[in-house]
Amino acid sequence: MDSESLRESLSSLSLPKNHLTLGLTNLINQSKDLSTLLKHKKLPDHPFTDLQIQTIILTLSTLDTNNEFSLNNHNSTAAGRWVGVGEREGRIYSSLVSSRNFGLGHGMGRSGDIMEPQPKAVGSSILVQLTKHLVIDAMIRGAGLKAEKNGGPVNHGLILPICTGMSVALVLSSLREQDESESDVKKDVVLWSRIDQKSCFKAVLSAGFQCVVVPTKIEGDMVVTDMDAMKKNVEKYKGRVRAIISTTSCFAPRVPDSIDDIGRLCKEDGIAHIVNNAYGLQCQTTVKLLNRACVVGRVDAIICSTDKNFLVPVGGAIVTSPNEKMIATISKVYAGRASSAPILDLFITLLSMGLSGYKKLLEERRQLMIDFKSKFEEVAKKYGERPLVCPKNTISYGITLDTLSQPLEGEDPQSINAGKMTSSFGSMLFTRCVSGTRVVAKGGLKTMGGQDFVGFGSSTDYYLSSYLTAACAIGLTENEMNEFFKRLDKCFKDYFAKRKKALKKKIQDES
Ligand SMILES: *Cc1c(COP(=O)(O)O)cnc(C)c1O
Repeated sequence: MDSESLRESLSSLSLPKNHLTLGLTNLINQSKDLSTLLKHKKLPDHPFTDLQIQTIILTLSTLDTNNEFSLNNHNSTAAGRWVGVGEREGRIYSSLVSSRNFGLGHGMGRSGDIMEPQPKAVGSSILVQLTKHLVIDAMIRGAGLKAEKNGGPVNHGLILPICTGMSVALVLSSLREQDESESDVKKDVVLWSRIDQKSCFKAVLSAGFQCVVVPTKIEGDMVVTDMDAMKKNVEKYKGRVRAIISTTSCFAPRVPDSIDDIGRLCKEDGIAHIVNNAYGLQCQTTVKLLNRACVVGRVDAIICSTDKNFLVPVGGAIVTSPNEKMIATISKVYAGRASSAPILDLFITLLSMGLSGYKKLLEERRQLMIDFKSKFEEVAKKYGERPLVCPKNTISYGITLDTLSQPLEGEDPQSINAGKMTSSFGSMLFTRCVSGTRVVAKGGLKTMGGQDFVGFGSSTDYYLSSYLTAACAIGLTENEMNEFFKRLDKCFKDYFAKRKKALKKKIQDES
């Protein structure tokens, strides 16, 4: 009901007119905000209040057919009441579940297309479309990605209620549908610039492709794209390569792939290029790299995690592309309907942040980065370690862990199990309530899908050192950061004390 008709209806009540006018101001402002949102489909500059967001969602929810049944209207037989006789009518048994979902029970999409509007659920459909526009706007005006006439990284997009890995798999599957040429050779190979994250590798296998791991190379401390190896593999599997997968957010010492060079190669050879940009939106350098890659080369799809970029619970991904057809095909390949819960979380979050809130988070991270780097270095040096110099990675940082397995005075070097000792440092940190660090000991081995990964964790076979990484990621607070370095320092101290004590005991026992 708009404020004017509300004012009219209320005029018969004995309320002072000026009170009514004052009270209605909020309502007027709120409906202004909502109509601006629906009209422009842009992230509001300033955050909406929780009350405002709830009102919007409940309004949208009212547009879905199921919300008549769930309001206990089962027995109403008025002609305008919905009667649901399908096997999926958005019926929600538990009122707790219903309120957790704001009564939205239809999910998203139709069986033929995940972005297609659902006639029974106009509200849910608006929610999905609107969230897509808001998140792309956040990526443009917040993070700095470009939408351009000749094809920017965010010209088109969709949101999926599945994580990064499965989204990569879905995008890969959609490439089968994109094939224009009816050649006899089956394109069964995906080239993957090595990144030691299991889900990326598994994504390729679950999409039914053969994954060819293209080795990286070491440049100083950095693990970088090996373009020569990439070209050699394109040549080796000529005609069979369905896509190249590159990655732009990764643990140090690996740095973002040279997606501009890979993009050029893909353009020349007519190969699809999928970019795994899991949490790269928070990094300006990566955003610039994405913009450039779309100008100079071929990029078919960019996949970003919703949780790692926008601080929502795990469960969603955003796929963007310079290419409209690509997005339409991905949308159609998804089998069936989908949950809209991750999209609702994103919608709420984006409105709670507003453009100003999102920019503030990005800026706070940029500020923290400076201290993060220097404090990490400080602790490292105190214990005879050094920082890994990887200027191309400004999210994940690393320090060497080589002193941990050096023999102490009087210790038999033969008794040292370096891998085990180094890993135990990671466990010690975890028991001191530090999560998210990674300890990678030299020479680890992992087998996945029948392939061996030597030096697993470092994205290269033989890295120079064992090391520890930690991320200065969006949402980290200064307090958390300072506490981390305090605990890391203490952990080093405890580690060496423990080893000295054990050695002393051993020597005593032996004598
Ligand atoms: C987090 C991450 C993934 C896996 O993401 P899921 O959302 O768990 O599928 C894949 N690749 C990279 C680089 C990541 O950071």
